[in-house]
Amino acid sequence: MMRQRQYKMAFEFIQHDLMQRKENGLYRQSQISETAQGRYIKVAGKHYLNFSSNDYLGLASDPHLIKAWQKGAQLFGVGSGGSYLVTGYQQAHADLTAQLKEWLGVPALALFNSGYSANQAIIKLLLDKNALLVQDKLNHASLIEAGVLSPCKMLRFKHNDMQHLNQLLKRSIKSDTLIISEGVFSMDGDSAPIKKLHTQAKLFNAWLMIDDAHGLGVLGQQGQGSVVQAGLKNNAMHIYMATFGKALGVGGAFVAGSQDFIDHLTNFSKPYIYTTGLPPAMAYTIMIASEMVAQDNWRRDKLQHLITKFKYLASQNGILLAPSMTAIQPLIIGSTEKSIQMATKLKEEGFWVTAIRPPTVPVGQSRLRITLTTRHELEDIKALIKSICLVLHDDK
Ligand SMILES: *Cc1c(COP(=O)(O)O)cnc(C)c1O
Repeated sequence: MMRQRQYKMAFEFIQHDLMQRKENGLYRQSQISETAQGRYIKVAGKHYLNFSSNDYLGLASDPHLIKAWQKGAQLFGVGSGGSYLVTGYQQAHADLTAQLKEWLGVPALALFNSGYSANQAIIKLLLDKNALLVQDKLNHASLIEAGVLSPCKMLRFKHNDMQHLNQLLKRSIKSDTLIISEGVFSMDGDSAPIKKLHTQAKLFNAWLMIDDAHGLGVLGQQGQGSVVQAGLKNNAMHIYMATFGKALGVGGAFVAGSQDFIDHLTNFSKPYIYTTGLPPAMAYTIMIASEMVAQDNWRRDKLQHLITKFKYLASQNGILLAPSMTAIQPLIIGSTEKSIQMATKLKEEGFWVTAIRPPTVPVGQSRLRITLTTRHELEDIKALIKSICLVLHDDK
């Protein structure tokens, strides 16, 4: 006779995790943006001034780039039809690669569909169980996660703390060691001490990688990013990666390095080999975007002007911002509840500002992540400062 066995429900943790997230006020859902990225965002029929976008140079809905995408589709089609090593590498990809190499001064690079997959690819391929990975504690989730999943030894140094990095390297250095930092930190807006990182890497014969998702296009004389801003050349980094989805306004990513490193990546990296190439119309659009970013200084100048004004007005009004010189201006609140409350009140006032909470930032460091873009006008910033003052007072 068959005996009925008692099975536990499969994947019970799904319900458990969801319930816990909801109880802690950390449950998240996407909201539909009913407009293209720009000065305003429309959600549920209401317009808000948009202070949450990574579209720092206002290119995501630029008319010239919309035309470029249409032209790219006519020239090359919408889909690449395969992976890069089969049929997916078209003239648009080659032209984009050449343009980026020239603009950024790097010997070789590989395109990826996202920064997330690029970071997974690099860490997965380079670091085996005998290798050491040393990362800034505040590095992006894509880097930290890949490190955790890797068989290598991973250590994290205190944010931008070169003494701590030095201690870790002294104690644990291995012949294959990779140090990774962001150029501009995504949730804090501050910059890494790239020259000092470079010195440490040299001292220990380690490789240095900079993830410049938030620096490319915005920093450096022609937007070549954080490394150039710091007075070094991008090719002084063993690995320089950045995304096309932030200041360039489109999407996708690249990894740059020596010809050998890139040849190895494109020959051995599964996330590179076994994925469909970027849509060629999109590659074409990214190329035009990068030309615009390299040539036009007015977007960077306007953004810098807005950042300076915002910081000045904040300090005049007793608003304590985290120390950031970039378009990312966090207002650290601490409590998650209060951050959400403030974001809600600012929304009532007509501002779209996102509360960033754990696990995206450490517990106790919930914040409003305010981002400025070229699309803003001075009056937008004045209005936001006024409302932040109101909302801060309201709370007391
Ligand atoms: C956004 C971001 C990524 C991921 O890039 P996507 O192209 O959006 O996947 C990686 N690193 C940093 C620092 C980022 O901010």
